[in-house]
Amino acid sequence: MEGLFAAGDCSTMSAGISGAAVMGKVAGEEAARHALAARRPRDLSEQEIATLRGAVLRPLQNPGGCTFSQFEDEVRSVVTDYVGFYRDEPHMIEGLRRLKALRAREAEMSAADHHGLMRVHEARSIRAVAETMAASAIERRETRGGGAHTRADYPARDDAAGLKMIIVELQGEDLRVSSVPTGITPEDIRSTAALGEASAHAHSD
Ligand SMILES: Cc1cc2nc3c(=O)[nH]c(=O)nc-3n(C[C@H](O)[C@H](O)[C@H](O)COP(=O)(O)OP(=O)(O)OC[C@H]3O[C@@H](n4cnc5c(N)ncnc54)[C@H](O)[C@@H]3O)c2cc1C
Repeated sequence: MEGLFAAGDCSTMSAGISGAAVMGKVAGEEAARHALAARRPRDLSEQEIATLRGAVLRPLQNPGGCTFSQFEDEVRSVVTDYVGFYRDEPHMIEGLRRLKALRAREAEMSAADHHGLMRVHEARSIRAVAETMAASAIERRETRGGGAHTRADYPARDDAAGLKMIIVELQGEDLRVSSVPTGITPEDIRSTAALGEASAHAHSD
């Protein structure tokens, strides 16, 4: 996505602290270059500002609604129960259905102050991320990444079909899931593993 920069755990399978630091430096430099070269965004009209302001502040005018923590607890329990450590398709499909149903309840949240307002918007993002994760986890029909994605119904790693990036897009109210190849081949994986083994032997020798 043009103009979106990411580094560290939110951009890749864990490369740990050193990976996050290196990627952060590279992404920061690229983001600065991009910002300096980009055209200044157009100013918003008064009407657009009023509409955005109304949408952002609405939870402050919704007394008696559910709190961000009640909403977050519901999202977390759906994720734990249906898209947790051990995953299978029937549970994830049910989890996805429940997370979608929670989307309809986002407007019920109320905020007592500006801290609560920030948490309401964060809770909405947490639900959106959970739904995106469930949709992509259903698509990945293999077990990969240490404990990150363990499929009880597909317990083996599948380099022939799994070396792909899963793309989740919002289309209207629904998520559309597709994938693109990473460009990495099963042969690349085998030769990297062989290099790792050779290096481990060299160190132990
Ligand atoms: C228990 C544990 C042990 C680990 N041990 C090691 C180890 O020994 N060696 C190693 O290399 N790696 C280790 N890791 C992994 C390593 O910690 C991560 O890979 C690394 O911290 C990722 O850095 P990051 O900057 O991408 O994310 P984070 O360090 O998670 O930073 C993200 C930051 O964003 C903030 N944030 C989140 N949401 C918002 C928001 N809406 N607005 C503003 N700020 C926000 C968070 O508060 C946080 O400070 C470990 C991880 C865990 C959980």
